[in-house]
Amino acid sequence: MDAARRSPELGSIDTEGKPAPLPSGESPAENPALPLLEAPTLVLNRSWIPIHTLPARLAIGLVARGSARIIDPRNYEAHDLDSWDAISRARESWVECIRSERLSLAPLEVIVLTGYSGVGDQTVTFSRLNLYRRDRYTCQYCGARPGSKDLTVDHILPRSRGGALSWENCVLACVSCNKRKGSRTPAEARMTLLCEPSTPHWRTVRRFPARPTYKSWEKFLSKAYWEAELSE
Ligand SMILES: [Zn+2]
Repeated sequence: MDAARRSPELGSIDTEGKPAPLPSGESPAENPALPLLEAPTLVLNRSWIPIHTLPARLAIGLVARGSARIIDPRNYEAHDLDSWDAISRARESWVECIRSERLSLAPLEVIVLTGYSGVGDQTVTFSRLNLYRRDRYTCQYCGARPGSKDLTVDHILPRSRGGALSWENCVLACVSCNKRKGSRTPAEARMTLLCEPSTPHWRTVRRFPARPTYKSWEKFLSKAYWEAELSE
């Protein structure tokens, strides 16, 4: 199996110097702790702005080194591993925990970095994959979601007429909308775009799963949250 999945981070959280690795040789199916260790944790920067997600095992490592604190999504209190262990033990009867010899940790839904206040690399590469992500695998003319194989990249102003390969001039279109539009502009084809295409915001494209893994993430990722923060 992949050695990286044996969680060196979880092993390193035992401060008495006795690493507590998971039993070797297990597969994720045999060891229910593995999926929990691989489950994504939402990472906030010091200003509580979401910047990306990390597998829980790496998030635990950051908390162990003091680079991050665990946020209790119920009350936004910040915890280190010991205090999160205490909270987790109180919840243990109804929450599946990540266990080592010393610690029993409820899933880390959200962590906040203690030192970093940047937002990471904000440039979004203009790539087919990112275009699919921006348009959410949806035909931008009819709203169909036929699956990636049946979506095409449509040049709003056709390439044959000088249309650029750019965020502003390209959208996803299903095969039938693409055929219908042909080498015309949407206006000429009497077709309407669902929304004005633009360079995607990095937060919406690169770093977060399409659906929040935990309900608690919605508070941090929702548009309303962002608008509230920015209007301070
Ligand atoms: Zn369509």
